[in-house]
Amino acid sequence: MELRVETHCHTYVSDGSASPEALLKSAEKKRLDAIAVTDHRTFRGSVLTQKYAKLVDSRVSVILATEAYTSWGDVLVFCPSPLPEPLPRDPFELRDLAVQGNCVTAAPHPFHPFMPSVKGKLYEAPQLFDAVEVWNGRSMVMFNLLAMRAAKRLGKPGIAGSDAHVPSAVGTAPTIVYAPSARPEDVLEAMRKGKVLPTLGIYSLPNLFRDAAWSIYKKV
Ligand SMILES: [Zn+2]
Repeated sequence: MELRVETHCHTYVSDGSASPEALLKSAEKKRLDAIAVTDHRTFRGSVLTQKYAKLVDSRVSVILATEAYTSWGDVLVFCPSPLPEPLPRDPFELRDLAVQGNCVTAAPHPFHPFMPSVKGKLYEAPQLFDAVEVWNGRSMVMFNLLAMRAAKRLGKPGIAGSDAHVPSAVGTAPTIVYAPSARPEDVLEAMRKGKVLPTLGIYSLPNLFRDAAWSIYKKV
């Protein structure tokens, strides 16, 4: 099956504006097959979204995930079940925990200078990552191109994600995943094996404004 999967988005459990319900509804509207909710430092947003999806018998499969904050920068972690929290800040400890939990790790927006990104550490310790986010919907094209080059040089699968902080931006840049089903374990396995293709979607003008307005609102 060719699946459209959102790999990077946030609810109000961390710094997004959307409730888990609103995020899921937006994913349904965009006809996504699966969605990984990646709230900062916690699996809670994804757990709540998965519970809600089961309650309403949604056709969208929800993958448990987080955007962990390590001393090297952000790391996306996709898991069959949540890892114990608080998550380690040491990137090597986090990777060990992720491997034990059968999770998949990825470096989000790795070369973005103003986001907590792993940057050159990606080349120093590529073994910490199963995949590289080569296209981040909120990032500038030049930084995404650096991520693409890194993934190519390191031979890592490249994924795309919207990094949506407002619900309407969900699905801006889905990853195409080739898996037998949209069940989380099948999607994770396909990501690990590199059966993925990033799409290069960019925010629409209304979503750029919504995202900017939310960023300002969060700060004031
Ligand atoms: Zn993010």
